[in-house]
Amino acid sequence: MRVHGLFLRSAVARRIFWALLAAALLPLVLVGSLAWGTLSERLDGQAQQVHQAMLKQIGLRLFDRLGAAQAALAAHAEQGLRPGHDPWLRPDAADGVARLALAALATADDDGVAAGGAPALVAAWRAARTGDGAPAGQRDLWWQARPGEAALVIVGHRDARGRGWWLAEIDPAFLWADFASGGAAAGMCVRDLAGRPLRCGDEAAAGAPSWNLFLHAGFGAPDWRLQGFSLAGGDLMARDVLGAWAAQGALLTLLLVASLSLVLVRRTLRPLDALIALARRFAAREWTARAAVPAGDEFGELASALHAMADRVGRQLQGMQVQAEVDNAILEGRDIGDVMRRVAGRLQELLPHAQVAVIARDPDGAAWRAHRVDAGAGPRDRPPPAVVLDAAVASAMPLDGLAVHCRSERGVPPWLRAALPDVPAAVDGLCWVPARWQDDLVALIVIASPRGLAADEDLLREVTELRDRVAVTLAAATRAHHLVERAVRDGLTGLLNSSGMHEACDRLLGARGAAAAFSMVCMDLDAFKEVNDSLGHAAGDELLRAVAQRLRGAAGPQALLARPGGDEFVVLLPGPPDAAAALAARLCQVVEQPFALRGQAVHVGASIGIASCPQHASDREELMRRADLAMYAAKAAGRGHWRFYDAALDARLAEKAWLVRELRLALDQGGLALHYQPRVDLHSRRVHSTEALVRWTHPAQGSIAPQRFIPVAEEAGLIEAVGAFVLDSALAQQRCWRDAGIDVGRVAVNVSPRQLRADGFALQVFSALATHGLRPADLELEITESLFVGDFDAVCARLAPLRDAGVVVALDDFGTGYSSLSVLHRLPVDVLKIDRSFVVELGQRASADAVARSIVALARALDKRVVAEGVETLEQEQHLAALGCDEVQGYLHARPLPPAALAERLRAGFAAPAAPEAAPV
Ligand code: C2E
Ligand code: MG
Ligand code: MG
Repeated sequence: MRVHGLFLRSAVARRIFWALLAAALLPLVLVGSLAWGTLSERLDGQAQQVHQAMLKQIGLRLFDRLGAAQAALAAHAEQGLRPGHDPWLRPDAADGVARLALAALATADDDGVAAGGAPALVAAWRAARTGDGAPAGQRDLWWQARPGEAALVIVGHRDARGRGWWLAEIDPAFLWADFASGGAAAGMCVRDLAGRPLRCGDEAAAGAPSWNLFLHAGFGAPDWRLQGFSLAGGDLMARDVLGAWAAQGALLTLLLVASLSLVLVRRTLRPLDALIALARRFAAREWTARAAVPAGDEFGELASALHAMADRVGRQLQGMQVQAEVDNAILEGRDIGDVMRRVAGRLQELLPHAQVAVIARDPDGAAWRAHRVDAGAGPRDRPPPAVVLDAAVASAMPLDGLAVHCRSERGVPPWLRAALPDVPAAVDGLCWVPARWQDDLVALIVIASPRGLAADEDLLREVTELRDRVAVTLAAATRAHHLVERAVRDGLTGLLNSSGMHEACDRLLGARGAAAAFSMVCMDLDAFKEVNDSLGHAAGDELLRAVAQRLRGAAGPQALLARPGGDEFVVLLPGPPDAAAALAARLCQVVEQPFALRGQAVHVGASIGIASCPQHASDREELMRRADLAMYAAKAAGRGHWRFYDAALDARLAEKAWLVRELRLALDQGGLALHYQPRVDLHSRRVHSTEALVRWTHPAQGSIAPQRFIPVAEEAGLIEAVGAFVLDSALAQQRCWRDAGIDVGRVAVNVSPRQLRADGFALQVFSALATHGLRPADLELEITESLFVGDFDAVCARLAPLRDAGVVVALDDFGTGYSSLSVLHRLPVDVLKIDRSFVVELGQRASADAVARSIVALARALDKRVVAEGVETLEQEQHLAALGCDEVQGYLHARPLPPAALAERLRAGFAAPAAPEAAPV
């Protein structure tokens, strides 16, 4: 029934059915119509012949009847000649024969005058004689057509005696006996040549075949034409019979063809239906669907071809799905272990009897790992953990080419056993597929089978596709690893850079448990800048690399080393603070050892600060800040030291911040003032110059010493403003004194290194001098030795225009800095101020005497003036005078004084030793 329904629905079925029907019908119709045509032609021909023959026969019989009538008339006329028997006179006295053929008799003369017999006949004869136009007396047959009935046919016989004509109307029943209904010529029609009907049967057909009855010879009359034949009815009947047979045959044939078509279509559609259903299931990705189509014909072949195709497509689609998953994993940067296991899983699916492993190199190249899945494991089953291959074992893996290599293998090589621990002792088939990236082996896919491997083309293609993805995955992971490394590693030393250190620190903080304390050891190289400046940056880089190397050696494997920038190194050391302290001490020692750079032994040191987690801080920023703070404190305490962070450092920091804030206010609100301390010439015992010293009286805290706020101002960038204030105030005061006639000598102003390095300092000095109407020689600038460290020539260049103009330059606190005596002669200074520390010990320590003596001697040799600071006693002064010192400055003569007080002292005469300062600092 289903097929029937399908037949109705199926366009193919309908098409086949109608095609078969048409195939049967068309030749049937063609052959039938041809046969019918031929047959009809034959029948027509035969009928024609029969008609002709029949017409001829009927015509001849008609002729015979005319002849008989003629003969009967003649005989009657002959009889009439016999004596005693004058039919002329009694034309109605016809004999038997005449009576049989003739209906009426008459006699007439040549003119048509009736002589005897039926006068109507004579009249008709007369009319007939003229009617057809024939000359009288030459015919012996006439007729007169009568509508609706047979024509009146008259035969004539000329009287032997010349009396005229014997006339007889031929009896129509006699003459047309054949034409009577049911007669042989019932369907015929006889006409004269003018077309007038003489006798037409009931069934006479127009257009039927005709035959001319030749009457001229026998009767001297024009021909009659016989037409139509009632036998035609029989002929048609034959045709109908034939047609009926043919139609029945055709119908039978069509029925047969239709039934055969149905059977054929039915047999075709059933497997077709199954194949369509199969195709639909394939479309729904049911690649395991099968159609129950019997084998043995094309449908069976098609079904098995579709099954094979579905097998292949299904496998390929699964393969493509896995490949797409792997592609996604690559794009998403998923764990390479996942990708490798997915690949191994897919290969295991394809080769259920084999054992498969993907041996992949770690992105950092450190190790090889074999990833695999158990045969028959589901997607939710936990795969066995990756096996790390021993480096020596991994190095024996085959590296050749990119192709899929297979060979029959009896023994199992060690690398294979390492990758597949469950592999049998002997395998029959071993395939390995190297995955390479830019000439580097990054993975090896291995397939070991106890049965030998039969790899078809599809399998090989999929294996190579997976191999390429494995290569891309590992290449991407390696590349990502390198990028990350580049992002977190310092290119110069290979240690972590600042972001790498942040990450490492965050990891340690994130993983911090009770036992996971760690310390941040922050190390800054001492005197690195000097090395960089004196030996160049390349040597500086070399030094940094060497320091990193020493750090690696000293720090141990637990430590994470970083160079966040410049000459700063950081060690993140897991463990208690004690371990960090021990490491810091070790690092100080290690870095203190000289470095061989450019053939020189270079000495640098390390200042180290330590902040521990959780003791000092538990977040990265704070830990770094505190370690830094400790490091700066260590540096400030002197080089080559280390120290832990403590709260006092923060207190100092807070104080610094307070100082900066308050100093800003003081600068704005005039909280600063200058005191002046005179310098006395030991030769003339007069005030030779006066040093301006800044004083800050805080509204709440009172007097704040310069040692407390000058370094902070320097650090905070406020020293330029302070310096400008001091320079301007000192020169303004000098101007006042000059104007008041008080001679304080040159006014000396302290200049910080930062101030001097600022662009436009010389201009600033010249402009201040000009503002207050003073000469350059009225001013002395006190600078410190630290200024020359690093950029000696630049400092010289900055001082040159000032000195050239006549400004005096003094080197303050001489002896405490780093100036080597060898460069002393090159220093662009006019005055050396021996630091107070030497003066205090004069006469008490021989070394102090020696230093003071040599400074004075050197200054003499270099033609520089020598000033001693901090002279408090007469002994000191005498000692200095004995050494040849030019000037002294100190409490012995005067403390730093406000301008008015100094002016008063000077007015009072300055020779006396110093009295106690009015407002001691
Ligand atoms: P400095 O330039 O060496 O100034 C001399 C310091 O020694 C002054 O301290 C002064 O009061 C002190 N002094 C002088 N004679 C004696 C003495 O006999 N005994 C003792 N114990 N001390 C004596 P002050 O004013 O506290 O200045 C300290 C330092 O602050 C200065 O040392 C200088 O380096 C700096 N400073 C002071 N004023 C300024 C300034 O205006 N600008 C800059 N840049 N630094 C300044
Ligand atoms: Mg000074
Ligand atoms: Mg000084």
